[in-house]
Amino acid sequence: MRLPYGFCYNSDGHIAIDNEKSDIVRMIYRQYLSGMSLGRIADFLYQQGIPSPTGKTSWTQPVISDLLSNKKYIGSIVSFDEYFIVQGEKGNRSNIDENTKHRKATRYSSQSVLSGLLICAECEHNYRRITRPSGEVVWRCANRVEHGKKFCKHSPSILEETIKGIVCERLGLETFDEQAVKESVGYIAVQQNGTMHIELRQYRLS
Ligand SMILES: [Zn+2]
Repeated sequence: MRLPYGFCYNSDGHIAIDNEKSDIVRMIYRQYLSGMSLGRIADFLYQQGIPSPTGKTSWTQPVISDLLSNKKYIGSIVSFDEYFIVQGEKGNRSNIDENTKHRKATRYSSQSVLSGLLICAECEHNYRRITRPSGEVVWRCANRVEHGKKFCKHSPSILEETIKGIVCERLGLETFDEQAVKESVGYIAVQQNGTMHIELRQYRLS
């Protein structure tokens, strides 16, 4: 069986992490999260003289894309957070038209009215929406996701359903209403203990 890129067999025949290649995997995840396109990452790897997983001189975009969605890396080579943020980012980018850089009209539903409203009370970065493979949607502090617990120690991950419930309660809504949220919520600060401070707008947007 061929091992995924980044793993190797050690001298006793057990699967181990290949130090050099696992560093390249992590670098590719970081580059993608920093906004680089698959094409730019491929160019970079070529320029650095890093051979592809099959030993070729150049990397193809599908090879890099597969690497960015390989679950075998979770916990061994990249963190849970890095992996799922990359999956969310892949989803977002597939909704962006490469030529115009505008969001494709047909699939904009992955955007949430809560985007940009949720703020981490601990470090003041935005919260980010993450869809887990189970379909469960959670929000986590983007700073903690990208830079680790060292920079944001206690911020909780919160189920989107929980957030919607709290917002409804605060606004006196029976069901979550995007328009009402857009019009009346200024920001939502997520506290370390999971409670939320919802600041309403002083005046309604017209
Ligand atoms: Zn934070």
